[in-house]
Amino acid sequence: MTSNTLPVVPHWIGGAAYPSASGRTAPVFDPALGVETKRVALADASEIEAAIASAKAAFPAWSGMSLAKRQTILFRFRELLDARKGELAEIITSEHGKVLSDALGEISRGQEVVEFATGLAHHLKGEFSEEVSTGVDVYSTRQPLGVVGIISPFNFPAMVPAWFFPIAIAAGNTVVLKPSEKDPSAAIWLAELWKEAGLPDGVFTVLNGDKEAVDGLLTHPDVAAISFVGSTPIARYVYETGTRHGKRVQALGGAKNHMLVLPDADLDLTADSAINAGFGSAGERCMAISVVVAVEPVADALIAKIAERMAALRIGDGRRGCDMGPLVTKQHRDKVAGYIDIAEADGATVVVDGRTVNPDGDPNGFWLGPTLLDRVPTSSRAYTEEIFGPVLAVVRVPSFEAGVDLINAGTFGNGTAIFTNDGGAARRFQKEVRVGMIGINVPIPVPVATFSFGGWKDSLFGDTKAHGSEGVKFFTQLKAITSRWLDPSHGGINLGFPKND
Ligand code: NAD
Repeated sequence: MTSNTLPVVPHWIGGAAYPSASGRTAPVFDPALGVETKRVALADASEIEAAIASAKAAFPAWSGMSLAKRQTILFRFRELLDARKGELAEIITSEHGKVLSDALGEISRGQEVVEFATGLAHHLKGEFSEEVSTGVDVYSTRQPLGVVGIISPFNFPAMVPAWFFPIAIAAGNTVVLKPSEKDPSAAIWLAELWKEAGLPDGVFTVLNGDKEAVDGLLTHPDVAAISFVGSTPIARYVYETGTRHGKRVQALGGAKNHMLVLPDADLDLTADSAINAGFGSAGERCMAISVVVAVEPVADALIAKIAERMAALRIGDGRRGCDMGPLVTKQHRDKVAGYIDIAEADGATVVVDGRTVNPDGDPNGFWLGPTLLDRVPTSSRAYTEEIFGPVLAVVRVPSFEAGVDLINAGTFGNGTAIFTNDGGAARRFQKEVRVGMIGINVPIPVPVATFSFGGWKDSLFGDTKAHGSEGVKFFTQLKAITSRWLDPSHGGINLGFPKND
């Protein structure tokens, strides 16, 4: 098939597939085969307008629907997702490349947020104070914002949107999701599932596109809030542009996550964890471990254990039971491989070189094997920049304090972990390290849905994290009501500022 005859992933507007007439499309690849399998529609101004108008039109009825009825739809969505997640995992693997078990893992973490959102009647409860002044009560309610935009990255095409949309929808908002153009089909599948669950048309919209669609959401007066996840430069741009246009914005950015290993750590647990967190999803996770900070004299023994495990990893097509799949595009694969060249040129030792790899898959796939670098200079761009691929760097430090200082000197602050059997050191680490999510002998400390996900520093712009109580706060606005029902002692005219007595 040529690009002209490939199927085009449409938008989803008004509860139905909405073919694009913009004339602009982008390629979607099967990364394990290295071939373009589809095109994705790139919205133009009229399609952006249609998507937002449909979401706006659906808002009054949806926000006016009882919590009990909304909850029933959420429960149905959860049941359908649980029963049919295998279909979604296959879609994710065919466009992202991650292995099927990993795709199922991301779906289950997204489902967790749906389950959290089914408790909407509890989450949306207000507060009440009786008799704050004579005959006066005060109470608060949480009300939805209106149309909210979600802009998501390629690396979790189901889970990242699901960090936001279940809570946004449960709270009574209507959602316009702009997925990554690299793997857009998961969003359309989720839209169909919402329809089957009984969600009214227009409550969940998918707008496919690129910068033009993003800018449309960021500047449109009918969009009240934006939840963004992606790289730091775009997160900063989204935060600045969205807030300048009067919107509430949370923009989660990139990461460079360090794992501090103390000499007393259990080295088998640590090596397993470094492998799982470094090379799972080919390192294309914002919570991937990309730097092992080894407190001497632990480095040599740890590197030997990590390298031994790397030799046993099966790299190949995610549908063949392999451990690690390809990278998302050829361009990204080449960019990541370029960082290995940079590290080597800057004096790092390449302990395991993924630039040559023998995959269990089509030779045209976007393959790059797991790579282990030792003695990476902290001045190298391979250390300072986010690589977002299967490249694990080891930096050796003389002490716990030097390790914490190194982590704190970084510009990112998404996740970090400490591996040790010393409770006092772990306690000091969690207190002193300036990072948003901390693991103690846990390499990928993604909090469960009842807590909130998000980093510090250049890993999050805005003041609200994803899901948990912060998610409920982000997607609602608080209203305080002061009420008095007249009784004979209401006091009459008084032009002074109301004081409580
Ligand atoms: P990206 O920033 O390239 O794209 C994210 C979204 O922004 C996409 O929907 C894309 O279409 C849009 N976009 C891209 N360029 C744009 C531009 N110039 N103007 C407006 N919109 C634009 O990110 P990606 O490559 O899809 O995803 C990987 C990045 O996401 C990594 O940096 C990773 O760390 C980060 N990420 C962060 C988290 C987190 O929780 N902090 C989670 C997942 C991914």
